[in-house]
Amino acid sequence: MRPHTIWQSLGQIQRLSSGRNLGRRFIQNASSTRVPNFAFAFDIDGVLLRASKPIPGAAETLALLKRQNIPFILLTNGGGKHETERVAEISQKLNVPLDATDIVQSHSPFAELVKGTDETSALEHKCVLVAGGDGDGCRRVAEQYGFKNVVTPGDIFMANPSIWPFSKNFYDYYKTFARPLPKPVDPRDPAKSLKIDAMFVFNDPRDWALDTQVIMDLLLSSQGHLGTLSDKNGRADLPNHGYQQDGQPHLYFSNPDLWWAAAYPLPRLGQGGFREALGGVWAATTGGPGKGIELKKSVIGKPYQGTYEFAERQMLRNRSTAFGGATNLPHLQHVYMIGDNPESDIRGANSYRSNIGSSWQSILVRTGVYSGGEPAWTPKTIADDVQKAVQWALEASKWSA
Ligand SMILES: [Mg+2]
Repeated sequence: MRPHTIWQSLGQIQRLSSGRNLGRRFIQNASSTRVPNFAFAFDIDGVLLRASKPIPGAAETLALLKRQNIPFILLTNGGGKHETERVAEISQKLNVPLDATDIVQSHSPFAELVKGTDETSALEHKCVLVAGGDGDGCRRVAEQYGFKNVVTPGDIFMANPSIWPFSKNFYDYYKTFARPLPKPVDPRDPAKSLKIDAMFVFNDPRDWALDTQVIMDLLLSSQGHLGTLSDKNGRADLPNHGYQQDGQPHLYFSNPDLWWAAAYPLPRLGQGGFREALGGVWAATTGGPGKGIELKKSVIGKPYQGTYEFAERQMLRNRSTAFGGATNLPHLQHVYMIGDNPESDIRGANSYRSNIGSSWQSILVRTGVYSGGEPAWTPKTIADDVQKAVQWALEASKWSA
C-alpha cells in the first residue's frame, strides 16, 4: 500500500454517514438566506474543550455559527472512539447538534484502507494489528470502519505472556478485552504462525513497552509472521540495509502531535511521543539514520496534507448537503482553521494546498498548548480564545452576525 493511495477517494465515513445528513442544518434554520463563502475548521482539545470541559465561549460560538448558517467542521488529532460516539459526547458538552460527518479524527482516513484502491491493496480481510486507546476501543472502531480481522497487542500478550513478561502486571487489564488469536504464534512453523499484514497506531498507547516490543518484532520479522526474524535484516547489499525488505507489515501512525493540552498545567506527551520513542528504539537497533537506515512508515493527521484534503472534501460535501444538494454554491474562498497547536493546526493550515483553490487561514488561540511568545509557525492572527477568533474571522470576511 502506497501512502498516497489513502487519499484518492472519498472516505467510507462520508459514504456511511451522508444518508443521515440530508439537508439538515441550513434548511432547518431559515433565518438567513445568505450563503457564506467561508467556513471554519476547529481543533477540539485546547480550543473547544480542555480536559473534556467546555472552554468558555465555545458553546456560544458554535451556536452562533449554527444560527448564521455558517458551515464548520471539527478537525482533531484526537481519536480512540468512533466518530458517532465522539460527536455525541461533544454535542452534549457543547449543547450543539452534530453528526458523524461533522468531525474528522486523526484515524478517520484509515477507513479508506478497508477497500483500498483495488483488491490487492484492500485490508478488509487481512489481519491487522491495532494499537493504542483504552481497552480494545480502537479495535471496535476499526471493525466499524470495516476491518474484519483485527488483533491487539493485548491479544498477543494474553496468548503469549513471554513476549513481554513485564506486562504481567497488567494481566487484569488485558483479560477484560483480549480475544483469542486467529492463529497461534509458532516460530517453529512460521507458515502456520500468526501473520500480521498491517500495523496501525490508532491512538495513544497505554502500554508503550508492550506495543513497542510487538511492533519491533513485526518490523524485524519475516513476512509479518510473529516469532520470526528476517535474515535480510542488516544486509548492506540490500536497500535500507535489508530492513523492511521482507514483506513486513506496513506501519501507520495517526496523530503526530508530540504534545497536547490536558488537565495538568503543562502540556503532556502525545501520540507523537510514542512514535519518537519507537523511532529511537528502531534507530538504536538498526543503526538508524546514521547508517542510512530509515523506519518506513505512514503518518496521518494534522499537519499533513492528506488529512486536510480529507477534511476539505468532507466539508464541501456537508456544505452542499446542507443546501439541499445545491451544486451552484458560491466558491468556498476561505477556511479559518482555529487551533491551539502551532505544530499541527497552524503549520497544517499554512502549508495546505487546497485542491479547489480555497485559502486556509490559521488562527492560534491561547487556551491550549500555545503559551505565548513567538509561535514556531506563524498564524494569520492570534486570539485569546475561540470566541474572539471567530469574531476576528467574521470581520475579516465582512460578515455581520
Ligand atoms: Mg489542540
